[in-house]
Amino acid sequence: MIPAAFDYTAPSTVDEAVRALADAGEEAKVIAGGQSLIPVLRMRLAAPTTLVDIGRIPELRGIRDEGDALLIGATTTHYEVQRDPSVREHALLLKAATDTVADPQVRHRGTFGGAVAHADPAGDLLAPVLALDAELVLHGLEGPRTVAAADFFVDYFTTALRQDEILVGVRVPKHTGWGAHYEKFSRVAQAWSIVAVAAAVRVEGGVIAEARVGLTNMSSVPVRARAVESALVGQPATAEAIRAAAAHAAEGTSPTADGNADTAYRQHLARVLTSRAITAATGV
Ligand SMILES: Cc1cc2nc3c(=O)[nH]c(=O)nc-3n(C[C@H](O)[C@H](O)[C@H](O)COP(=O)(O)OP(=O)(O)OC[C@H]3O[C@@H](n4cnc5c(N)ncnc54)[C@H](O)[C@@H]3O)c2cc1C
Repeated sequence: MIPAAFDYTAPSTVDEAVRALADAGEEAKVIAGGQSLIPVLRMRLAAPTTLVDIGRIPELRGIRDEGDALLIGATTTHYEVQRDPSVREHALLLKAATDTVADPQVRHRGTFGGAVAHADPAGDLLAPVLALDAELVLHGLEGPRTVAAADFFVDYFTTALRQDEILVGVRVPKHTGWGAHYEKFSRVAQAWSIVAVAAAVRVEGGVIAEARVGLTNMSSVPVRARAVESALVGQPATAEAIRAAAAHAAEGTSPTADGNADTAYRQHLARVLTSRAITAATGV
């Protein structure tokens, strides 16, 4: 279907973009890579009156080393995240998850910030962002503000972003030397996650010193598997200890049932995939 008519503007700075959003009012929308928004427009599930294209704002693109963190610009593409050496070195979990997103064509157009702002519960980058304790940098008419990932994801496709705000970047604390793995369960290659698990671990002398585990599509928002993390710390990095900790993965969750999986099956997947993800992350 052809989308409903809209006005289009392509500002060249963040301030101009924010002003354009505010001027256009409630019915304006940001467009970045368009990989999620264009299908929505074509299906006429949304009919914004104005699109503010942030794809031509140089300051939003690229990955900056801030010392103890990486700042990933919102319009950095999935392809660029996958290939960035600093992401590989300091935030391996993001690379692992990005490797599973869609296909090369989508990864060349789709952006890291777009995926995070879209907040699809089946999206593969939300759980890693949450697990790594990232901060979201937002910019609106009143200037910049920072929101912890734990407070950013509010509900299905809903975030803490206000109407006049854009996501300018994601600040990811460095996890240098950590093992990481993203274990995704989907029906066919390149499909969305039915359930997936993001795991990062730091092993010291054969013992798990620190662990971060995030769950994809186990709720309307990404979920942190805190019980698994606590059960892992101080344990030897063995298959048995990991399996025992992973048994806690579905604690406190009540995922919705859909055509792909009912609640009990999703909880079963969370336990199995958590065990696999941590095993791969520790290299056991
Ligand atoms: C065939 C196909 C398969 C896919 N498979 C997967 C998959 O397996 N896993 C996965 O995680 N994703 C998948 N995706 C989605 C892909 O990751 C998209 O790139 C991503 O969801 C949206 O990024 P975008 O830059 O294209 O955003 P857009 O489509 O441009 O925007 C998406 C939404 O976010 C808002 N937005 C975008 N950027 C900003 C910003 N900086 N500030 C504020 N709001 C913003 C827009 O207003 C819009 O509401 C798939 C997409 C396609 C087309």
